[in-house]
Amino acid sequence: MASLTDTFDLGRLQLSSGQARQIELQVALDRFEFGGQTYSPEGARVPVLLDAARTSHGYSLRLRYDVVLSGPCMRCLEDARARIAVDAREVDQPGGGDELRSPYLDADELEVRAWAHDALSLALPAQIVCREDCLGLCATCGANLNEASADHVHEQAPDPRFAKLSELRFE
Ligand SMILES: [Zn+2]
Ligand SMILES: [Zn+2]
Repeated sequence: MASLTDTFDLGRLQLSSGQARQIELQVALDRFEFGGQTYSPEGARVPVLLDAARTSHGYSLRLRYDVVLSGPCMRCLEDARARIAVDAREVDQPGGGDELRSPYLDADELEVRAWAHDALSLALPAQIVCREDCLGLCATCGANLNEASADHVHEQAPDPRFAKLSELRFE
């Protein structure tokens, strides 16, 4: 089993220009704030696949992994799980200008964990839901509409003046 990695030294691959290697690593992913909720990756360590290719002056990198996030459904707050496929690329070409530098690469030292975390935030769906057709919560009473009957509706809120009148009547 690959060891847990925060950073990976690409230099130790000793790639020459045009050569590529695929490396399996294990990364610990942190919990995640998303849409005001907290989501946890399932499993303490996530296997990630790193493709590293040496270019004439730098590296071309690809990071891939699948992860399941669990946390509250953004509509009904019940438990939800989302499987997310992450596929991210970075190019690092020293001397090629800022846009060709990877923020995750310092010399040959690749910040695998930071990259994996940021790439996940870019791969998130618009919403994490318990199921695609989750009905969410009733805006009036907060009932879970997945469990409520299909005819869950509310009368218009009574006019407070009539409410006062009816109180008088029942005194
Ligand atoms: Zn839901
Ligand atoms: Zn309701």
